[in-house]
Amino acid sequence: MSSASPIAPGATVAFIGLGHMGGPMAVNLAAAGYRVQGYDPVPAACEAAAAEGVTISGSIAAAVRDAVAVMTSLPSGALVLQVYRGPDGVLANAAPGTLLVDTSTVDVDEARTAAGEARTAGMLALDAPISGGVVGAKAGTLAFMVGGPQEAFDRAQPLFEVLGARAVRCGDSGAGEVVKLCNNMLLAIHQVGVAEALALAQGLGVEAQAFFDVASVATGACWALTTNCPVPGPVPTSPANHDYEPGFAVDLMNKDLGLAIAAVERSGTDAELGRHAQAIFRAVGDDGDGGRDFSVVYRGIAERSGL
Ligand code: NAD
Repeated sequence: MSSASPIAPGATVAFIGLGHMGGPMAVNLAAAGYRVQGYDPVPAACEAAAAEGVTISGSIAAAVRDAVAVMTSLPSGALVLQVYRGPDGVLANAAPGTLLVDTSTVDVDEARTAAGEARTAGMLALDAPISGGVVGAKAGTLAFMVGGPQEAFDRAQPLFEVLGARAVRCGDSGAGEVVKLCNNMLLAIHQVGVAEALALAQGLGVEAQAFFDVASVATGACWALTTNCPVPGPVPTSPANHDYEPGFAVDLMNKDLGLAIAAVERSGTDAELGRHAQAIFRAVGDDGDGGRDFSVVYRGIAERSGL
C-alpha cells in the first residue's frame, strides 16, 4: 500500500486506549476487517476488546510497529503527549508515513503540539474528537470533528466511515478540538437555558408539557430540549425519565468546559455565558451528581425555584 492510499480494511491499525469509547471503536474496526492491535494498561479493557477480535499487544511499541495508522482514545492531552513521546512511544516506534488519529478530547494547544511532533517524526496527524457517546461508539454512528492536512483526512476516510455517521474536516491541526469545545460550551449553555425556561413556565402555572409542545417547534427549539428534555414526561427517552442516568455525564461536561474556558481565557474571548455555565455545572458536580446526565442541572434549578 502506498503511504498516501486510503486505509482500507485488511490494513493493520494500532488502537491505544481501549476504554468506554476506544474499546468499541477498536472492536468495530476489527469487525470491518482491519487487523487491530490494541494496547491499554488496564487488563479488563484488553480482555473485553480481545473477546471481540482485537489482538492485544504488550506495549505501545509492539502495537504500532507494523501499523499504517495509530488511533488513540485517552483521557487527557497530557496522556496523548506521553503516549506519543519517549523511547517506548508512538513516534519512536511507528514507521515514518504512519497516520496518527487522536480521537480524545484535549486542549487545542496540546493537539497542535502533538501534530507538530508527529510532523517532525515524518508522520501525518489528525485531531479527530468525537461526539455521540458510548452508544455512538458501539453503533458506529459517532460524529468526528477533524483538524489536520487534507491528505491525512482523505487517508483516514475509510476509518471514519466504519466508526462514524459523519466526519467533517474543520481546518488545520487543532480545528477539530476547537469545534468540539465550542459545540459543548454551547450545549452547556442550552441545557441551563432550557432548565430555567421550564422552571419559569411551571412557576407561572403552565405545565411543562405545554411549554414543550410549543417551544420544541418554535424558536426556542434545540437538542437540549427536543432530545435531552430535562423534565420527565415530554421526551420518554430522555435521561430525566431514568433518574438522569447518562447520556453525557456532568463530569465529562466539566472536563470539556474546563478546556473550553481555558481557551476562552487564553484567546481573550468575551464568553460570559460560557463562564457562567462552567460555574453552574461545577456546582452540580460538587453536589454529588457528577455521574448523572448533565440535564440533571434542571433538578437543582427546580428545587431552588420552589417547584
Ligand atoms: P476511559 O477512561 O473510559 O478510557 C480511556 C482509556 O485510556 C482507559 O481504558 C485507560 O486505561 C487508557 N489509558 C490511560 N493511560 C494510558 C496509556 N498511557 N496508554 C494506553 N492507554 C491508556 O475514557 P472514555 O470515556 O473512553 O473517553 C476517552 C476520550 O474520549 C476522552 O478524551 C473523552 O473526553 C472523550 N469522549 C468521551 C465521551 C464519552 O461519552 N465517554 C464522549 C466524547 C468524547
